[in-house]
Amino acid sequence: MWSVHKFGGTCMGTPQRIQNVADVVLGDSSERKLIIVSAMSKVTDMMYSLVHKAQSRDDSYTEELDKVFEKHMAAAKDLLDGENLARFLSQLHSDISNLRAMLRAIYIAGHATESFSEFVVGHGELWSSQMLSYAVQKSGASCSWMDTREVLVVKPSGPDMVDPDYVESEKRLEKWFSRQPAEIIVATGFIASTAENIPTTLKRDGSDFSAAIIGSLVRARQVTIWTDVDGVFSADPRKVSEAVILSTLSYQEAWEMSYFGANVLHPRTIIPVMKDNIPIVIRNMFNLSAPGTVICKQPANEDADLDACVKSFATIDKLALVNVEGTGMAGVPGTSSAIFSAVKEVGANVIMISQASSEHSICFAVPEKEVAAVSAALHVRFREALAAGRLSKVEVIHDCSILAAVGLRMASTPGVSAILFDALAKANINVRAIAQGCSEYNITVVLKQEDCVRALRAAHSRFFLSKTTLAIGVIGPGLIGATLLNQLRDQVS
Ligand code: ASP
Ligand code: MG
Repeated sequence: MWSVHKFGGTCMGTPQRIQNVADVVLGDSSERKLIIVSAMSKVTDMMYSLVHKAQSRDDSYTEELDKVFEKHMAAAKDLLDGENLARFLSQLHSDISNLRAMLRAIYIAGHATESFSEFVVGHGELWSSQMLSYAVQKSGASCSWMDTREVLVVKPSGPDMVDPDYVESEKRLEKWFSRQPAEIIVATGFIASTAENIPTTLKRDGSDFSAAIIGSLVRARQVTIWTDVDGVFSADPRKVSEAVILSTLSYQEAWEMSYFGANVLHPRTIIPVMKDNIPIVIRNMFNLSAPGTVICKQPANEDADLDACVKSFATIDKLALVNVEGTGMAGVPGTSSAIFSAVKEVGANVIMISQASSEHSICFAVPEKEVAAVSAALHVRFREALAAGRLSKVEVIHDCSILAAVGLRMASTPGVSAILFDALAKANINVRAIAQGCSEYNITVVLKQEDCVRALRAAHSRFFLSKTTLAIGVIGPGLIGATLLNQLRDQVS
């Protein structure tokens, strides 16, 4: 059975780190291993900037290309030697000279077609994966290199989004395996081909998605995503100092959390592995002793108390709340459709929606930068209804944030929202709007941005702090010490 590993850009950031990655790969005793890697850190940004500079006719793209070349040459010289080093450098030379020609064409045209720029930006992965594959070979292990443009076929499915073609990709993958059987395969993250064999990418940060798709194609035992944090936190540790690493998460929870911007996984990573129940493990490359976070179908042996129902908290800032209110909405079909088609026309992204069953108001949150257009569109769309008084107002509340509590078992457990709202009330925080979907994986509240961090801390400590263990030693208890011990005993019982 295959074990799939994905190493992000920071894990591949220096030759020493690439060597460490090779050691981790060799240390996995699985029968067959497929390793997906990102470009060395910063390289993808550099590649995008090359295209950008060339198409805006900024000559400095040539120096930047030299930097890209030097960075990889230096890394390879550090990491590799002999024939493999020579092979790598000659490939690098030829890639760079092709890129130079291509960027020159972009510079002359003053424009880069999408396929040109997709071709250019994917080079970081080609180089990082070749270096790793040679580094693994150095130990004598049999290791093949895979250019995923030969096997992964994707089709565009929206702006900056692609969907994998599993059937075609599986066919190509089988063909690839029949040509190159190996126990260890090092493959490029991020890049793929269209059905017409034109190089493309899975879009920014797409290597997690590559690993999940390939994990699903080979029916992997497990997909391990190696990164630079110990796992998934219960809240953003920069905002909540008591945030803890979660040992397990369900697919749905991880999905909700990545949606709310918990910077752990590319949101689309869950979909491919979910259907085959392949667990994803998030591990820290820089702290190998940390067990990481396991994301799987339904984590086992969870304790049944209320507090454990909430797995994590996330926030989104810079939002505005739009409130459409009026007695003329009740029982009139089509009001919400009219509202949201007006919102769609201005291309705004609706983050949450809430309508009370009295139907007198619908409110929804959109990014602050989109709210002016939304409000204008609604005023135009409902001009008559507003004039006739069927709608009383279209109101905007600026500077809002969302606080979301995520947890699978909130669904089947009464009382969770009560605890959350009680914590917010005790912290004296005014909740502007609330939404809980029927899936009940998350409860979302909208509050003023200035209250957000305080709300996050209050909610987090209400659900998580109660689990903190405290060890106290009392030396030579006299009267005061003995009284303290008695009080503690009374608290426990
Ligand atoms: N190197 C690509 C990027 O930075 C893909 C990835 O790292 O996931 O977007
Ligand atoms: Mg990356």
